[in-house]
Amino acid sequence: MSQDHRSRALCLLGATGSIGVSTLSVAAHLGIPVFAVSAHSKVDLLATQARACGAKVAVICDPARYDELKRALAGSGIRAAAGPAALEEIAAAPEVGAVMTAIVGAAGLPATLAAVRAGKRLCIANKEPLVMAGDLIMAEAKASGAAILPVDSEHSAIFQCLENHGADEVRELVLTASGGPFRTVADLSQVTREQALKHPTWTMGPKITIDSATLMNKSLEVIEARWLFGIEPERIRVIIHPQSVVHSMVSYRDGSVMAQLGLPDMRVPIQYALTWPRHEGGEVGIPDFAKLVALTFEEPDTARFPSLTMAYHAARVGGLAPAVMNAANEMAVAAFLAGRSRFIDIFRTVEDALSRTPALRSPSLSDIIAADADVRARLAN
Ligand code: NAD
Ligand code: MG
Repeated sequence: MSQDHRSRALCLLGATGSIGVSTLSVAAHLGIPVFAVSAHSKVDLLATQARACGAKVAVICDPARYDELKRALAGSGIRAAAGPAALEEIAAAPEVGAVMTAIVGAAGLPATLAAVRAGKRLCIANKEPLVMAGDLIMAEAKASGAAILPVDSEHSAIFQCLENHGADEVRELVLTASGGPFRTVADLSQVTREQALKHPTWTMGPKITIDSATLMNKSLEVIEARWLFGIEPERIRVIIHPQSVVHSMVSYRDGSVMAQLGLPDMRVPIQYALTWPRHEGGEVGIPDFAKLVALTFEEPDTARFPSLTMAYHAARVGGLAPAVMNAANEMAVAAFLAGRSRFIDIFRTVEDALSRTPALRSPSLSDIIAADADVRARLAN
């Protein structure tokens, strides 16, 4: 019998973000105790959240904000901590049963590894570490017995459609993509930051919203799916589905296709990661099927959105290529969000970085971290 979710205390990494806030709502609804919360720099929000959810520890990543956090938590009995090492500490703490990784980007890699090595239930929203070092993370999970539960809506869908079936029964995984705000925009050279930040169906943090507009999010998700489900990239297909009702599908060798449907609300996959293998009562309704005019599907346009081609290339090459692709994308998105570059420069930056990928068959963790740092250093100049 698996441990009940109410007795599995949660460590929430990235509590102040979009996934973090939704996770706190789900935890409150289900009565899941929260042991620790973290944030990068939003001290006041973090302290408010920690008090509201009854956390025992709050971690601010930026060490310069430690005193501020201590003051904000004065009299609460909540321990304040700071710095990246404190993230690894809370992720592996003996009091913790489940870890939700809701940090954005490669910054979440060390804490993800700490949680997996400590054998925690690992609820992964933070996809970038899986893209960078998926085989190492999955191998560590095998060694420690950590259960890995996908939170990304597509991967939660596939996980649900796959349950109890082996990769050898699968014809292909079909990842759906909304297509983002520029699905029907012919010329991407003039699109603005404000347009790119308006996602048609999901409300999310800024980095993943831009990734959705470039389809780089789907590119990262192809590699994420490869590691989570042990299925080679050639059997992972992307299809545009603008309504975001079908969250993804598994087609089996006998011609049967399983799909998972729902409203575009992350509280559904967040909750399932926390309560698996049970579906408990939740806060989210279901689509009104009588009002759904159409569910449509179309091929992605890889000429306008070359990120998908890059992802399949990176997945095939393996080694350091996915980490290089991810680091270049993070830097390019940051430059675009800061107004220093154009939308289409994101594609150029990632393509150029990929073409410089050092050849290395089975990189170690330190090789991956070094490659990530090299790309960032080169693009920072
Ligand atoms: P967000 O920007 O809203 O929040 C990010 C969180 O990470 C914040 O709490 C922030 O304080 C923290 N953080 C940022 N930089 C950090 C650093 N350097 N060190 C430590 N903490 C840091 O992001 P989000 O939209 O919630 O996405 C989080 C992750 O979940 C991403 O990897 C994203 O791809 C994935 N995801 C998000 C959604 C969604 O609906 N938002 C859906 C699927 C997957
Ligand atoms: Mg997704």
